[in-house]
Amino acid sequence: MRRHGKLEYGGHVGQLAGPQRTCVGCRVREAKSELLRLVLVGDHVIPDQRGRLPGRGASLHPRLSCLELAERRRAFPRAFRVQGPVDVTQVRAHLEKESGNVM
Ligand SMILES: [Zn+2]
Repeated sequence: MRRHGKLEYGGHVGQLAGPQRTCVGCRVREAKSELLRLVLVGDHVIPDQRGRLPGRGASLHPRLSCLELAERRRAFPRAFRVQGPVDVTQVRAHLEKESGNVM
């Protein structure tokens, strides 16, 4: 498949969009503003909706499919550099509330 129009320049696309982060679920790079920042408090992963909580953060698309991918890949302990399992109940509750009737 060939797109008509201009060539795409891989690697340059997106630089104008500001800072980017990688979703810990699907591993897609995305503008920071499109992702939900998560922080670890104790062994609970908390959605940092205002982007103000201190500590090491992880980024996730605000959708349940990415949360589930991240859980399946054990991406959270890796992202937060902890050994044990982490609790994502609050993230799930947040996403369920946000997504309304999806899933
Ligand atoms: Zn994602």
